[in-house]
Amino acid sequence: MDVEIIKCLKDNYSYLVIDNKTNSACVIDPSESKPIINFVEKTNINLKFILNTHHHYDHIGGNKELKKKYSAKVIGFEEDKNRIPEIDICLKDREVWKYNNFEFKIFHIAGHTSGHICINFYKEKLLFTGDTLFSLGCGRIFEGTYKQMYNSLKLIKTFSIETKIYCGHEYTLKNSQFCSIHDKENLKLKEKILKIKKKLDKGLPTVPTTLKDELETNIFLRCNSIETFSKLRDLKDNF
Ligand code: ZN
Ligand code: FE
Repeated sequence: MDVEIIKCLKDNYSYLVIDNKTNSACVIDPSESKPIINFVEKTNINLKFILNTHHHYDHIGGNKELKKKYSAKVIGFEEDKNRIPEIDICLKDREVWKYNNFEFKIFHIAGHTSGHICINFYKEKLLFTGDTLFSLGCGRIFEGTYKQMYNSLKLIKTFSIETKIYCGHEYTLKNSQFCSIHDKENLKLKEKILKIKKKLDKGLPTVPTTLKDELETNIFLRCNSIETFSKLRDLKDNF
């Protein structure tokens, strides 16, 4: 299984999970259809499924056109079925979905939106976190409570540390500046920032990150109380 990172809009990432054995793919959070179509046409791959972490336009913008063009099926969270355009297959919290070599499980992680999910391809240890966990940051709380977001991050912390994290946006550099201010002595953070800058200088994405890296460097995963978390989230909103 391969993951292709597709840059979309200003700073979004969409992802294609590709099964080379069957030459088929799932797309995660297609912000727009065009860059996805370009890749699919270039590689002659069969786009089978469209998966959405949440309903925001920059994560579902390509659903309609991709579904129409490739007869792909849209998969999303049952409780958000009225907000995921063109949804065909509704999954419940912690439900497993299997099709050929594709196997993943979804987890309800509210906070950024009330129906946000993360998608775990557990055999390959890939986790698509949408706008809930970013590298060195976390999403804004739009529809949920601090407690929901805190618990959603806590759930993500329980995955195995080698898990590769694919998030919805390239916010890593800005996030790193915030982490530096609130976690000055963290050597792992300093090391990670150097690596991030090298990647960005070459025009490369800073994703995927790993859960191990994030546990060591992401201030929103490192804080251990909901009070600290809430304070940091408020400060970040105005950063
Ligand atoms: Zn969002
Ligand atoms: Fe987003």
